[in-house]
Amino acid sequence: MGIKLILSPPASGKTAACIERIKTVQQGNPLAKVWVIVPNAQKASYFKSRLAKAGGAMGVKVGAFRHFYQDVLEESGHFVPVITPALSNRLIQETVDQVYAAGKLSHYASIKGKLGFLSMLRDAFAELRSAMVKPEDFLEYTRNNSPAQHELAILYDHFLARLEAINWIEPEGQAWLAIKTLETNPQLLSKLSLVIADGFSSFTASQIQFFKQINEYIDEVFITLTGQEELNRPVDARTLDVLNKLKESLSLEIIELKEASHLPLEIQHLQENILEPSSTEKLTTEQAILLEARSQSDEVREALRWIKQLHVREQLPLQNCAVYTANIESYKPLLRSVATEFGMNIRFSQADVLSESPLVLALVAFLDLPLKNYPTRVLLNVLRSPYFDFGLNPGDVESLEIISQQAIIVEGKQQWDETWQILRVSGDPDAYEDEDRRRSRKLEGIDVALMQQHLEHFWELFTKMDEKRSQTEWVRWLENTLENCAFYERISSARDREACDSLGEALSALVLSESIAGTKMVDYAQFLADLYATLTDTQLEEQKEVFKNAVFVGKMVEARAARYDAVVLLGLSEGQFPVVENPDPLLDETLREELGLEPRLGRNQASTFYQAFTRADKHLLITRPYLTEKGEKWEPSIYWEESKKLFDGNVVHRQESSQTMNQSKAASVQELLFLAVQQQNLQYSEDAELAQRWKYLYHAQGILDARRAKRAQGKFEGDLSLIENQISSLFSSDYSWSASRLETYAACPFWFYMNVVLKLEPKELPELGLDAAQLGSINHKILEDVYLKAQEEGTSPLALLDEIANEVFANAPRRFAFRPSSLWEVEKDEILETLRKTLEALEEHKGEWEPFAFENKFGIGDTKPLELELEDGSVKIRGLIDRLDKNQDGQLRVIDYKTSSTNFSEADLTDGTRLQLPIYALAAQESLQLGDVSEGFYWGINKAEPSSIKLSKYKYNDLKGPQAAYQVALDHIKATLKSIRLGQFSPKAPKGGCSEYCPAIAWCWKYKARFIND
Ligand code: SF4
Repeated sequence: MGIKLILSPPASGKTAACIERIKTVQQGNPLAKVWVIVPNAQKASYFKSRLAKAGGAMGVKVGAFRHFYQDVLEESGHFVPVITPALSNRLIQETVDQVYAAGKLSHYASIKGKLGFLSMLRDAFAELRSAMVKPEDFLEYTRNNSPAQHELAILYDHFLARLEAINWIEPEGQAWLAIKTLETNPQLLSKLSLVIADGFSSFTASQIQFFKQINEYIDEVFITLTGQEELNRPVDARTLDVLNKLKESLSLEIIELKEASHLPLEIQHLQENILEPSSTEKLTTEQAILLEARSQSDEVREALRWIKQLHVREQLPLQNCAVYTANIESYKPLLRSVATEFGMNIRFSQADVLSESPLVLALVAFLDLPLKNYPTRVLLNVLRSPYFDFGLNPGDVESLEIISQQAIIVEGKQQWDETWQILRVSGDPDAYEDEDRRRSRKLEGIDVALMQQHLEHFWELFTKMDEKRSQTEWVRWLENTLENCAFYERISSARDREACDSLGEALSALVLSESIAGTKMVDYAQFLADLYATLTDTQLEEQKEVFKNAVFVGKMVEARAARYDAVVLLGLSEGQFPVVENPDPLLDETLREELGLEPRLGRNQASTFYQAFTRADKHLLITRPYLTEKGEKWEPSIYWEESKKLFDGNVVHRQESSQTMNQSKAASVQELLFLAVQQQNLQYSEDAELAQRWKYLYHAQGILDARRAKRAQGKFEGDLSLIENQISSLFSSDYSWSASRLETYAACPFWFYMNVVLKLEPKELPELGLDAAQLGSINHKILEDVYLKAQEEGTSPLALLDEIANEVFANAPRRFAFRPSSLWEVEKDEILETLRKTLEALEEHKGEWEPFAFENKFGIGDTKPLELELEDGSVKIRGLIDRLDKNQDGQLRVIDYKTSSTNFSEADLTDGTRLQLPIYALAAQESLQLGDVSEGFYWGINKAEPSSIKLSKYKYNDLKGPQAAYQVALDHIKATLKSIRLGQFSPKAPKGGCSEYCPAIAWCWKYKARFIND
């Protein structure tokens, strides 16, 4: 008996002919059993709805090949269970391990444990099975081939043997079993009258073999294919291939339908002429079927707007619309977010992978912690995760973060344990405000003992992790742990609930795989690897409500069989479609051809395009982005150009600008309001709710404009003149200033506002090694102690350096509350080396000066502040003078140590960003009454040299020396206080770029990167 092959162009009645045939068969025998085999779920529901519209039929079963394989096996009473992804992973992993242990794996030895390799193997095995490649043939064929191919054949052979041993089967193996069953038991088909395969564009070898088998015993078998009488156009290439393949194995009777296509004029014209070299005919149309948008995200907006327009204005049900794209991964998030905004349901042909759901990502971050040695950043993120309850409130996690910064905890439980001991004896170190030791009292108000207790509870979750356990025991451990963290109780969204259900199934699958394949004792790392592999293979099924009235979204290659009223093809730009083809790393093209596998290169993408656009019964839109993400021109796809060539008139539409777009075209309230703000007019102002929202947005636009303006000004950019009174009372004459605060204002008023008025601190990520403040504090302490002792004993400071430094180093972790990292020994050597050089240089610069006072406080504790009289009152300033030298005339020299390698120039003093020297000099002179200052400079500890700015050489207006510096400082202090009290805090990026100490660097609109050439 021959198989009847119905060949006709798209939309010319193939499905109708199949339904007609079913009707005819059932007229003679109303109980006749019919199978309709379809390629996908979309075609199944399409076929069923067409059949229902035609009056329905009893005894007709519509499904995929696998459903019919199961039918055959069930009918024969031969039940072989099908493996789950978890069991498949386990068996493939074991296969690889066994082949490796037997010394038969060398080419793939280095990647044998990689998840990617195991998943490539699974795909290759599935393809080989579908192509009916017998393991013994494959082994024989590759015996003299490359090691890579022969090892693949060995792995394939072992995998199938292992499956047979446990008496399970993989999905592709079902075809083999069904065919084998039919060979010995053909009467299983005796009740079947008609078999139809509708909507396929290709067949695997096992599917063709199945046809061959059933054709022997069934009265009628129909196969439909899309194509013309003469298959000589590029778009027919795939049909021609399939036809030749079918002819090789089956006896075919070709039936060509003569029905006229019901496609609209434009789609019909495209169908008849696309990629037809001889076609010169152009159709004049005003219907835009090609749409260009600026970006992929705009393209998605336009595509979904077009569908929504058809839905609202022409009452087209959303389930009658489809979107196809070759690059579904990059379009998926865009489609999801725009559809949510537009209030449209969409559903994807492929469910999301469970491992990408937020719930599972949070779980993986948590479970990975012990393997990665608890990196502090990840640990804090996990502690803050809304999916877990570790008995910590947000303030507790904040406190732990502060402790980690103070103690420099980069990773590991051990670092935390060491920290508790140090903090117990040291407490919070003193707050300093000088640039070198800039540190606030971070630990103030933190209950360190309580935080330790909290973290101890967390560590308990991961005890006894070194032992090996069976997978079932690990799953039990995981479930207990999740319960202890209230993981299940915290799930609130429907999507997370779905993910949680799928997670439960994945865990059950792991337990089941162990009960089938035997107990496997594994360590924690292996358990996680097995779990992640299972999660990657588990799909996160969409909620059932999503399927109702939803636009279907599929891959371009899936655009076959089902038909829709409206179809959009996304991404017709170069590189997106046709897709760039890559060879298969395991099965190369020659091997594929020899084994009868589908090629990976030269995949007839013209046929795919043809199949895709001919899915549209009424409306078609082909879209593309014309700019890349970087704003560069994006060339159109060849299929776009070929389509364009076939039309005259306005077939191409460029996305409208939001400035001119009619507000009636807005597809969401958000979009309408966006257009209204852009156009400064709301067309629907009679709607009170819209009008109110528009007013808010209009206000927000004012803020945005202020932020974007070149010159920062106004109340949204630091002008607090409206609360001038509050600000001036905050900074009244009682306020105690530091040089550093005055300098901060001069550097950037907004920085001052954030740091001093709002008391915000920059967020720092703990890094291995001392931070700048700790290093500065240690340097200062050693220099102070060395000089003090040298003064007392009358010896050279250099001779005392080693001894003093070792004393300071021994106490440093407790004194400055840090946990010595693994770099501490190296750091000590470096500090010592640097200080040795700096001491030598200081001694060379000693001249007539003798050090005589160190770390002199003014305005701190009960010491007298520096008080300066201004026109509108006085100002009090406090500080800590690193060092004062005296000469024989009793004159003073001020030295301020700086660890950083920044240059300190006269210009910095003139512009007010370095006021420390004159302020300290005045304090020594006026407040501390230590004598007249005639000299002063900053001393670069790392550079081992004085700054270029020297008080004795400084000039300002007609003044020279310290007097000039006092005058410029006074002028700046006056101007600064005046501006502060007027509430002037507009941002102005410092001339060398913004400081890392500014807390606003993460969000400030005027941020300017710093150029560092240390
Ligand atoms: S980021 Fe720069 S411009 Fe902005 S407040 Fe900080 S220092 Fe000023």
